[in-house]
Amino acid sequence: MAKKTVDDIQVTGKRVLVRCDFNVPMKDGKITNDKRIVAALPTIQKLIKDGGKVILCSHLGKPKNGPEEKFSLAPVAVRLSELLGQKVVFANDDNVVGENAKAAVAAMKDGDVVLLQNTRFRKEETKNEEAFSKDLASLADAYVDDAFGSCHRAHCSTEGVTKYTSPNVAGYLIGKELSIMGKALENADRPFVAVLGGAKIEDKLNVINNLLEKVDTLIIGGGMAFTFLKAKGYEVGKSLLDESKIDYCKDMMAKAAEKGVKLLLPIDTVCAAGFPDPIDGPVDTTVVDSDKIPADKEGLDIGPKSRELFAEAVKSAKTVVWNGPMGVFENPTLAQGTLAVAQAMADSEAVTIIGGGDSAAAVEQMGLGDKMTHISTGGGASLEFLEGKTLPGVACLDEK
Ligand code: ATP
Repeated sequence: MAKKTVDDIQVTGKRVLVRCDFNVPMKDGKITNDKRIVAALPTIQKLIKDGGKVILCSHLGKPKNGPEEKFSLAPVAVRLSELLGQKVVFANDDNVVGENAKAAVAAMKDGDVVLLQNTRFRKEETKNEEAFSKDLASLADAYVDDAFGSCHRAHCSTEGVTKYTSPNVAGYLIGKELSIMGKALENADRPFVAVLGGAKIEDKLNVINNLLEKVDTLIIGGGMAFTFLKAKGYEVGKSLLDESKIDYCKDMMAKAAEKGVKLLLPIDTVCAAGFPDPIDGPVDTTVVDSDKIPADKEGLDIGPKSRELFAEAVKSAKTVVWNGPMGVFENPTLAQGTLAVAQAMADSEAVTIIGGGDSAAAVEQMGLGDKMTHISTGGGASLEFLEGKTLPGVACLDEK
């Protein structure tokens, strides 16, 4: 169901609480990458232009026991102010909605911007307790959620607050995530190819199951492929294996056959004597066919024939969704498989969607970010979306 966005509401003269994702990397009190702040600008600028009183909130890091200076959002206020070219008042209350926040909001004129302190300074935040949700709502006439990376969590600032605010709408960032990923899952241009990788099959059981309902081709690489190879009856040596999921993999292969979905597994594998230590240290490798992995070797990347096979499938697609690396991409010798998928996606005319996390980092590292249609801003949230789960921070927004 389509959700209302900032384009559907009138904000002139209204106090608008905006949940942003300002969870930026910091070192010694300095922001080391301001991408997330930059990504929030379109929604904030739209609300300023329309004469709203723009009250921003976000979490930063994982403060365990309430307020901690190193998790203060003060540096974000400074950077945001530079990017917007206007003053951003930082309301520095340890309890987030305290005397400073109330006074700052009371003094706001249309188009002004106030940033509240880290929402996780309040212990109620992650427990979604009423008191903090009500405090946040007391500052606002309308609520905008633009923090996709947090919307799979029902917290006060992502879900609880909406019980006491109206209207509740999506910002441009979430709007884009929902429309692009939603279309891929519900009404994809075909062929629709999904590429899954990463270490553990356990994390992606539901994603595999749900995607088999939607895609034309499912490609599985990375550490999780070996449990599938074992389920096919191959020996996998010292490679990652989840014995408890072998039957599940057999079920998924049967489901793929029944649904007419092409399930592609690595046909060859880059092996080494063991996992590199350190992870990016030198490693001696050999390439073997996937049904001939020696007992004393560990598979750490997809081989050249698999790269070609997977790249061909990606190139012939109209929609591609990718989550999880094809090998131990942190090591340059073992990054070829991940690189090949990233390059094939970059070269393709298809709608290309990267599901956040490691795959997004790999794509950015390779300088291919601007060649993709969409890189999700939320690893965990995008995985839950691909699983077909309801995201609490989205479900609570008003429908069109
Ligand atoms: P994403 O972040 O894109 O959602 P992910 O983080 O869910 O992916 P993980 O399950 O965390 O994926 O797996 C990522 C890790 O998997 C990487 O650190 C990578 O080194 C490791 N990995 C990939 N292939 C193998 C393999 N063949 N053997 C062991 N580890 C692997």
